[in-house]
Amino acid sequence: MTASAGATLSVQQLTKEFTTPEGSTFVALNGVDLEIRTGEFFVLLGPSGCGKTTLLRSIAGLEQPTSGEIWLGEHRIDQLPPYRRRVNTVFQAYALFPHLTVRANIAFGLEMEGKKAKSPEVVARVDEMLELVGLQDFGSRLPSQLSGGQQQRVALARALAKRPDVLLLDEPLSALDLKLRREMQTELKRIQVESGITFVFVTHDQEEAMSMGDRIAVFQRGEIAQLGAPRDLYAEPANRFVAEFIGEMNFLSVTPEPGGLRTLAGALIHDAALSAPLAGAGATTVGIRPEHLAIAADGPLNGTIAAAQYIGTDLRLCLDIGGGDEVWVRVAASYDGPTAVGEPAALAVTPGGAREVVA
Ligand code: ATP
Repeated sequence: MTASAGATLSVQQLTKEFTTPEGSTFVALNGVDLEIRTGEFFVLLGPSGCGKTTLLRSIAGLEQPTSGEIWLGEHRIDQLPPYRRRVNTVFQAYALFPHLTVRANIAFGLEMEGKKAKSPEVVARVDEMLELVGLQDFGSRLPSQLSGGQQQRVALARALAKRPDVLLLDEPLSALDLKLRREMQTELKRIQVESGITFVFVTHDQEEAMSMGDRIAVFQRGEIAQLGAPRDLYAEPANRFVAEFIGEMNFLSVTPEPGGLRTLAGALIHDAALSAPLAGAGATTVGIRPEHLAIAADGPLNGTIAAAQYIGTDLRLCLDIGGGDEVWVRVAASYDGPTAVGEPAALAVTPGGAREVVA
């Protein structure tokens, strides 16, 4: 399959208000601005109810925005009916036709365009799609004769057959068990790269977002809290919500002073580079990823073990470091130090491992 010419998908100042049954107004999307590049695997990530699906449905034409514009390349599309947008959607429920074979299901959208199912063009396109999703030998089966993962592939093939500029995917893997889900994540990524089509993928699973997305928009109550590549979101979260949502983060209340950060319990984390610009500003919050903490006999964070979780490759330890603060640290499974609740232990912070986190 050749890469689609495609077009940039541009969402401008998009707002969607719903009227609740009680008669009040609920703002599901609040002035969202987004530019999704051609051929990009773009993820909309956020907790339940933050507006991801509303944005996807607005792009598809299934929801009419209250205000704002959506452009696909040179064309404004938010006023067009769904079938006139070069956009297609794969939903969580695959919605395959149970009485049609895999081939017929994939050909369906093309027939809607007036092409004959047996025309060489349609047969060739269906063959191409079957190969793309790895179902060459399954064309004559009915959906009921397929596994969940295979049905998902058929739904994908059907949506891609019409060669949309943009494919919208609304939590398409959430019905699959964890192992199959991981497999399909790799598959979806491969199919996206091979097809060259822009994917806009909705999920509330940060691991899924991080492993698949070229870029991710993190949504918080109808607005974009941060947009960036997975590594940037992890390394430089814009606020506490993103820091908590992407990966694990410990939060500590500290007061900057010359040379370091003083915890509520009175320990000093040496970090002149961080504390100097913050000095004089009073108490603040810093975030430290678990991998930036290590058990170290001489501290500076002294505490007691509050919990220990063995997770195969690693051991997760929670330390109560006083002042009401608890921190999680990951240690190798071979660690043979204290693990029993109440035993003393001490932690060091990797130089540069703490960062200020704004609310
Ligand atoms: P989820 O992951 O649970 O699907 P989401 O981030 O996709 O969540 P949306 O489905 O976009 O969230 O919903 C955003 C908000 O808008 C929610 O609080 C939801 O209750 C509200 N909402 C959605 N559709 C309607 C509607 N038709 N009428 C009133 N409120 C709605």
